[in-house]
Amino acid sequence: MFADGRKMQTDISRMLRGQTIINSGVTPIVLARNTYQVPPQPGDKVYKVISNLNNNSGWTCECPDHTHRGVECKHIHAVKFWLALKDALTVQQKEAEQRD
Ligand SMILES: [Zn+2]
Repeated sequence: MFADGRKMQTDISRMLRGQTIINSGVTPIVLARNTYQVPPQPGDKVYKVISNLNNNSGWTCECPDHTHRGVECKHIHAVKFWLALKDALTVQQKEAEQRD
């Protein structure tokens, strides 16, 4: 139980770090379909984030946090958060257009 709670907390902190990247005004670069690059953070390298949702293996990132620990790192969370944000904005825009 405790272990689960701690894992959850770690994931939330990674999620928040991912959101912080986007909130700081950074925009992921779309390299190809389902392939993104998160601009480097201070003290960080440039990592490629790939969404493998088609073959069910989920998200991958080249950073040690993901490759060594197998967790969804802040880069993956940053891209997911950015995509969700873009979706939400597109829906809002469509709704606004329909009102006009
Ligand atoms: Zn990463």
